[in-house]
Amino acid sequence: MNRPSRSKCPHCGGSFPIRNSLELNPVLRRVHAQCTNTECGFTAQGFFQWEFELSPSGLPNPEFSLPPSPHRIKSAQVKCV
Ligand SMILES: [Zn+2]
Repeated sequence: MNRPSRSKCPHCGGSFPIRNSLELNPVLRRVHAQCTNTECGFTAQGFFQWEFELSPSGLPNPEFSLPPSPHRIKSAQVKCV
């Protein structure tokens, strides 16, 4: 199993893992991250949001949808020409 990806602290470049998150809706989560470098100690709040659908689900939820990615739209237009 792959390790979850971690972001980098914008101050010291250390590991900046998400410590907790709260689902605001199926597309948007509020996240809190904290630098693991004890000399830095930077903490921040931000958002994690799904933006585009790259590949459709095999088990689609009729109450959830995302717009197709601009790349998929462009590819579909090229195929129609
Ligand atoms: Zn840091």
